[in-house]
Amino acid sequence: MSYCPKCHHEYAETVEICVDCGTRLRQGHRPVQLDLDLEDLFVPLGALLCGLIALAMLWLRVAAQFGWIKGPFATLVETAQPPCMTVFYAVAVIACTIVLSAWVIRRLILKQD
Ligand SMILES: [Zn+2]
Repeated sequence: MSYCPKCHHEYAETVEICVDCGTRLRQGHRPVQLDLDLEDLFVPLGALLCGLIALAMLWLRVAAQFGWIKGPFATLVETAQPPCMTVFYAVAVIACTIVLSAWVIRRLILKQD
């Protein structure tokens, strides 16, 4: 078994040059790659971060409204966060959940290949 150090395709022992990129192949099995690249994590981490912030803002608003938190901070939350923003945060939480779920489902399907 040989492999291309550049594009990580594996070839039969008799092949010496990578068909895709022309790089000289190395002997042996290709080294195990990390399952996740950093770039693959941008979307799910971004969605997770936005979702958590939106969820926190949503919780603050609900907590202030129902008196779970009190004092000047609760008043600030109630006056500074109009109802339309509460709806926006709820939609953001749902959207982030959809993006994260889609990413997880895609990862699970890709893993089976
Ligand atoms: Zn190659």
